[in-house]
Amino acid sequence: MTNKNLPQQILAKLEQVLPKEQRPLALHEPRFRGNEWNYVKETIDSGWVSSVGKFVDRIESDLAKFTESKFAIACVNGTAALHMCLKIAGVDTKDEVLLPTLTFVATANAIAYCGAIPHFVDSESKTLGVNAEKLDAYLAQISELRANECINRTTGRRIRALVVMHTFGHPVDLDAIAEICQKYRIVLVEDAAESLGTYYKGRHVGNHGLVSALSFNGNKIVTSGGGGAILTNDPQLAKLAKHITTTAKKSHAWKYEHDYIGFNYRMPNINAALGCAQLEELPAFLRSKRNLAEKYLSAFANFPGAKILREPEFAKSNYWLNALILDKPDFHLRDEILKCAHEAKILARPAWELLHSLDIYRDCPAMDCTEADRLRNSIINLPSSAFIDE
Ligand SMILES: *Cc1c(COP(=O)(O)O)cnc(C)c1O
Repeated sequence: MTNKNLPQQILAKLEQVLPKEQRPLALHEPRFRGNEWNYVKETIDSGWVSSVGKFVDRIESDLAKFTESKFAIACVNGTAALHMCLKIAGVDTKDEVLLPTLTFVATANAIAYCGAIPHFVDSESKTLGVNAEKLDAYLAQISELRANECINRTTGRRIRALVVMHTFGHPVDLDAIAEICQKYRIVLVEDAAESLGTYYKGRHVGNHGLVSALSFNGNKIVTSGGGGAILTNDPQLAKLAKHITTTAKKSHAWKYEHDYIGFNYRMPNINAALGCAQLEELPAFLRSKRNLAEKYLSAFANFPGAKILREPEFAKSNYWLNALILDKPDFHLRDEILKCAHEAKILARPAWELLHSLDIYRDCPAMDCTEADRLRNSIINLPSSAFIDE
């Protein structure tokens, strides 16, 4: 039997953690307390607001340093960065690319932009990301190696890549997943849009596959207004990434020669200026988010009916968004809780609809996604902005 008072009991716990004075409380808001205004003003004063400038160079070196990736290439947004990751990973028209069905739609869209076919896989409750064991068993059943390539035996198409996503800043089990990719000759790409500041076994995420994408959208842990970045440790791929994101123009003092149908995906300097100032604040954001997560965790410790998702034992998560997980996944209950929170002006949110259930992706291949479906009905994201409780 479900507990009828669960929504009120959950609200009481939220009220313990969240300040009364700040309402409505959004899910995630940016914070500008550092050099944001100074740096943005500097780009306007100097005239260097567009696609080249010192802040673009600086954000790339700051990101490489912070993530301990050899190279970072700044882009207009995270979706564009992910699109470019797939391009340089060699994803071609008619290839299949594996991805979790429980993710933001951009992960699948970037695959579709390549003319490739998204192939949806299930998630696990521990990380909310790709379930490695289930993926291994599935690939053993549906694929075979031909000329060192992974072929889907049903469709005859090549399975070129797997995109994993570190949900709300909690990393997937990257070692287990990298091993599967090795075994089936599939390229590993990380959608690290939500996980700047997240470590897997002591190493920053985004370093475990061939290429990775970050996002600096307004709702992410740091923002450049709009923006993203490609991370890689491969110098050749880094060079290619920079080339195809700048319209593939050959270097020359005045000639317009292009050797590939490139993209105008470079991050403008004015956005990079904002991003650089935000990166200076990242350590403080991370401390504040961990602090808030601990408050949520202790408020819901031993609470019957729901729990806060804790970082997996192999991880140090950025706790970008806190997630409350209901024990008994039930639409009505979840929506009742959301309604109750909204009435108190606490703007909690459900998880995404499963991508393979959207009309635009309904005809794409998908494995059994029972666990993702259960999770979708049990996840409630809680207000998680930095300094919310201070
Ligand atoms: C935010 C996000 C993106 C896309 O980033 P944009 O900068 O908004 O284009 C991609 N994937 C995931 C999982 C995200 O959360």
